[in-house]
Amino acid sequence: MSALMQTYARLPVTFSHGEGVYLFDTDGRRYLDGIAGIAVNGLGHAHPAVTAAIRAQADKLVHTSNLYRIAAQEQLGTALTQVADMENCFFGNSGAEANEAAIKLARLYGHTRGIKKPAIVVLEGAFHGRTLATLSATGNRKIQAGFEPLVSGFVRAPRNDIEALRHIAANNPDVVAFLAEPIQGESGVQVLDPLYLQAAREICSKEEWLFMLDEVQTGNGRTGTYFACQGLDLVPDVVTTAKGLGNGVPIGACLARGTAAQVFGAGQHGSTFGGNPLACAAGLAVINTIRQDGLQANAIAMGQLITDTLRAECAGAKQLVEIRGKGLMLGIELRKDCGELVQRAMDAGLLINVAGGNTIRLLPPLVINAQEARDLAIGVAELIRNFD
Ligand SMILES: *Cc1c(COP(=O)(O)O)cnc(C)c1O
Repeated sequence: MSALMQTYARLPVTFSHGEGVYLFDTDGRRYLDGIAGIAVNGLGHAHPAVTAAIRAQADKLVHTSNLYRIAAQEQLGTALTQVADMENCFFGNSGAEANEAAIKLARLYGHTRGIKKPAIVVLEGAFHGRTLATLSATGNRKIQAGFEPLVSGFVRAPRNDIEALRHIAANNPDVVAFLAEPIQGESGVQVLDPLYLQAAREICSKEEWLFMLDEVQTGNGRTGTYFACQGLDLVPDVVTTAKGLGNGVPIGACLARGTAAQVFGAGQHGSTFGGNPLACAAGLAVINTIRQDGLQANAIAMGQLITDTLRAECAGAKQLVEIRGKGLMLGIELRKDCGELVQRAMDAGLLINVAGGNTIRLLPPLVINAQEARDLAIGVAELIRNFD
């Protein structure tokens, strides 16, 4: 422990292995995983298709370099842009890097339009990562405090307030892009109003701003479509993703279409590891499995089952405010902060997470079945009923 910087307040448990929606700790205790490594293990733990893909790729090549063509990267690029209805993509290793690529792309786009200090509209409550640019884009002072000076070039807007966005458009000629999560995960599963997102899309088109969505958490099938925007009939200029794309192998992507797809030229962005053969082999296995096993439809059905079960089991529970979210990205808001429920859940063999202080966040693997979904909902409901 002491050899690690204290960047995390870690729970006192170590897992030795996993299978599907279950994790096993070093004492042999089994936990139903309601958080999936924070929306990463969409296919659950030790999924055979991902394991086989990683193994086969590791047998041949783990890394070459983006100095050369990489077959697995080209295949994943084709598969990902196809499922996303986008044109091209850049691969990095994380969500923050995917967003860094989007931020750089937007700035470069601004400069090509003669805007010397391009700015990006970002929302209150947003989370975009922990690098300097992405924490500056993040709408949470706790994440920024101590790291000033922040990166400039972000304009903060209240979420779901289209008038505020119109006001920015009328008064700030330096804006070149809008960046938002369709559902804000870290701030407590805050679902943006689809009408707001559509209006924002229209403003972006009119003002020639790039409409950029951060789907690092919502993407890769979790909300029932490959990207959440596809379920909202929204066509972004740029969309970023990461978490669920590699099922645990680090990978992130920034996808673009239209004008945005033509912005970067050779030498303007890069990554040593980004899109390496191993990560891309895992990503390809993930996309193929999501499609072949109908996991997007399963996310909708199991999300509904969990929500219905929670509602029934929590009827009359004093602490419950509301259950919100989409597919297998669910937030259960309580009347008070509930961080202590994480440990109580663990004692009951459940892994959950609390976001935004008072909201239980559930992000179970997309492979969860009806029995497991019911077990998760019943276990969480019991925690809520006993929370006073
Ligand atoms: C997790 C997350 C990020 C950051 O991803 P990292 O892989 O931790 O860098 C960015 N945006 C959103 C919406 C996220 O949920």
